[in-house]
Amino acid sequence: MIASTMQPGELTIARLVEYSRRTFPETGVTTWTGSELRPISFPELGDRTAQLAHALAKLGIGRGDRVATFMWNNNEHQVAYGAVPSMGAVLHTLNLRLSPEQAVYIIKHADDKVIIVDASIAPMLAQYVKATPNVKHVIVANGPASAFEAPEGITVHSFDELIAGEPTVYDWPEIDERDAAVMCYTSGTTGDPKGVVYSHRSIWLHSMQVCSASGMGLGNKDSVLAIVPMFHVMSWGLPYAAMMAGLTLVMPDRFLQPEPLLAMMAAARPTFAAAVPTIWQGVAAQLKAAPQDISHLREVVVGGAAVPPSMIKQFDEFGAPITHAWGMTETSPLGSVSRPPFGVEDPDQEFAYRVTQGRFPAAVQARLIDDDGNEVAWDGESAGELEVRGPWITGAYYSPDGPVSDPAKFHDGWLRTGDVASISPDGFMTIVDRTKDLIKTGGEWISSVELENTIMSNPVVTEAAVVAVPDEKWDERPFVLAVVADEAQADAAKLREHLAGLVPRWQLPERWAFVTEVPKTSVGKFDKKRIRAEYADAAYDVVDARD
Ligand code: ADP
Repeated sequence: MIASTMQPGELTIARLVEYSRRTFPETGVTTWTGSELRPISFPELGDRTAQLAHALAKLGIGRGDRVATFMWNNNEHQVAYGAVPSMGAVLHTLNLRLSPEQAVYIIKHADDKVIIVDASIAPMLAQYVKATPNVKHVIVANGPASAFEAPEGITVHSFDELIAGEPTVYDWPEIDERDAAVMCYTSGTTGDPKGVVYSHRSIWLHSMQVCSASGMGLGNKDSVLAIVPMFHVMSWGLPYAAMMAGLTLVMPDRFLQPEPLLAMMAAARPTFAAAVPTIWQGVAAQLKAAPQDISHLREVVVGGAAVPPSMIKQFDEFGAPITHAWGMTETSPLGSVSRPPFGVEDPDQEFAYRVTQGRFPAAVQARLIDDDGNEVAWDGESAGELEVRGPWITGAYYSPDGPVSDPAKFHDGWLRTGDVASISPDGFMTIVDRTKDLIKTGGEWISSVELENTIMSNPVVTEAAVVAVPDEKWDERPFVLAVVADEAQADAAKLREHLAGLVPRWQLPERWAFVTEVPKTSVGKFDKKRIRAEYADAAYDVVDARD
């Protein structure tokens, strides 16, 4: 054995902050105000980051304390992303779209001491913190402090006034790269929200993967529109990748509807964008109504839910090609990215690769496990539950008494993703479904995702969610909740006819209902738990389209 001669060099967020401020005066973050862009450079961000850290220290924030944000994607949120972990505290990004009960539960569970809030949503937070006695300070950004009506026991501050006059340099503490930096709760699609705590090291390694060519391939010349919220798995790591690559981050703030998003794109002309499929579905509809050139986007990364192949085709036509990626709150989130392999030139073959969820990066190990606990072959057909492990995959969930590795979610050190997948011999993963969403009918399984994609390949369908509903004869059958472009097309028999040639007969859904919008979760995915409950409550006008 010989010893390595390399230096330790702790991988900390403070290093990213100082590196970006020193290296990239020409780039930074820019936030849409609804009519114009509000830019801030990396050196200016560095100044504010130090100032906020000083201000938080004066409020009593120390090592390991939780500072929450209740904010849109904007310049001030980026400052908090740098300041809180760099000073040794833990940034807790609160999801703005949680139910009041969930928000109160999470604020208490994480034991947040200070919350930074955008003025536009301060009244909402004021309701929640009445029930969270440990929150002592609220800092209001992007508007007057008076936007927050403080319940007793909470001191309110204005973000700008609080940091004004503080020194623009901070003597960042020595931090172990394995210490906690940021925490985020799962959106609770399939149960109670659970806390995941990222370390400085996991964020660093993940950022390197985001920037690398097999990840998102980002560099200094990119201008990246981060639509995916900073409260949803750290905006897929883009705020930290931005500091590493010195790229320009374009932030939509609260302007997330297709029309303002497109107005912002026309002004900022980003080269890259990231969001879940529902956002792009809205953008596509708007582009059809009011055409606009979006070919300045050299790439659009889409994940968080399965991307329908029809959407990939549509965005190719817009000149803004989609790259499909898979991940979870538990995986920081970059788990896999689909880039067709070397040597593939045939467009159909290339497309077949692009619709998969892609290959795992070197740091992420993956395996498929069947119901008996055996490993499933990577033959492109056999499916099993996907399990992953690696330096940016969580090994436990947060609890105030220490991390908890529930055997239902962890298996011999591997994370059980709850996704059923197959993997091809050359390592491309296809997600079949979430374990809980598979439809068990007459002893066979139907993938709700595959059925949705096939239904959405019909151009008259703008959205379609498929869930299992009870059936006396078959145990479960698929129920389709669809949105069509115009009312006259809400014809279940016709839609079923279109499907007939595309899926096996026994999969053809009988039950259909039409709505103007499919219910979505707090992060914009089809809310299948709610659809199942509403179906059980007879909330939908269900058509039986049996022939
Ligand atoms: P939550 O689990 O709270 O909904 P996450 O954002 O962590 O929030 O969700 C992760 C899950 O989203 C994955 O386990 C998977 O089921 C789904 N998912 C993410 N990306 C994709 C994708 N590209 N295709 C299919 N499903 C995806």
